[in-house]
Amino acid sequence: MKSFKSLISIILIMISVSFLSFNIVKNDSDKYEKVRQRMVRNQIVAKGVKDQKVIQAMLNVQRHLFVPKNYERMAYEDRPLSIGEGQTISQPYIVALMTETLDLKKEMKVLEIGTGSGYQAAILAEIVDHVYSIEIIESLGLRAKKLLESLDYKNINLKIGDGYKGWKENAPFDAIIVTCAPTNIPKPLEEQLKEGGKMIIPLGGSITQKLVLFEKKNGKLIKKIVAPVRFVPMIRDDGKHY
Ligand code: SAH
Repeated sequence: MKSFKSLISIILIMISVSFLSFNIVKNDSDKYEKVRQRMVRNQIVAKGVKDQKVIQAMLNVQRHLFVPKNYERMAYEDRPLSIGEGQTISQPYIVALMTETLDLKKEMKVLEIGTGSGYQAAILAEIVDHVYSIEIIESLGLRAKKLLESLDYKNINLKIGDGYKGWKENAPFDAIIVTCAPTNIPKPLEEQLKEGGKMIIPLGGSITQKLVLFEKKNGKLIKKIVAPVRFVPMIRDDGKHY
């Protein structure tokens, strides 16, 4: 009888401990949920983003996981943040705006140039079936790969390399999103965009750039200027700007 009672109490302790750790994990992973909802309401929806798929993706992806620990509490402010190696994670509104302009559908294949933290890749992976992303700085690419794998994204393919050249083996792409700024549109990216496809890209020097949306129609790119922006430059293997 005594051993039965102690067995019961051991079971009860085990149950309460497992509830306790479940709660801790749950609270921890939900730590910024309200703040994230507020960010989406005040910075994304209020500024005119309407695509429900984009809004849902911005609600789902925990941006604080993609920034350095000491910036975690700033992760939901509408600003870019440093991610090391002189690079930045883009401001949430710009991520949402760029994603929305591509008019994405689930079955699409999208190429991103400039993986950086992996945040934009995660947003894309919430929406489309196939994401390809290229990062030129190895340490950033490897870090993003580890994080995206730990978050169980199975539809993101990453490569370390020069994104100016695109990813020929997997072309053509339904959409291309470039998150670093070359002066002019990279020819290989133009070629790897599908007929009817869209490419969003910041173009210009290091001071002034324009976010430009291109649509490929009859083999030609039709240009539409979206907004003035400031991105890090697109660089070559030797560190020079494109
Ligand atoms: N999309 C990123 C933002 C990254 S900032 C995010 O969500 O966090 C732009 C990134 O482009 C930087 O990481 C930079 O290293 C990378 N980059 C610059 N030139 C590149 C090139 N030629 N090919 C691929 N990536 C490049």
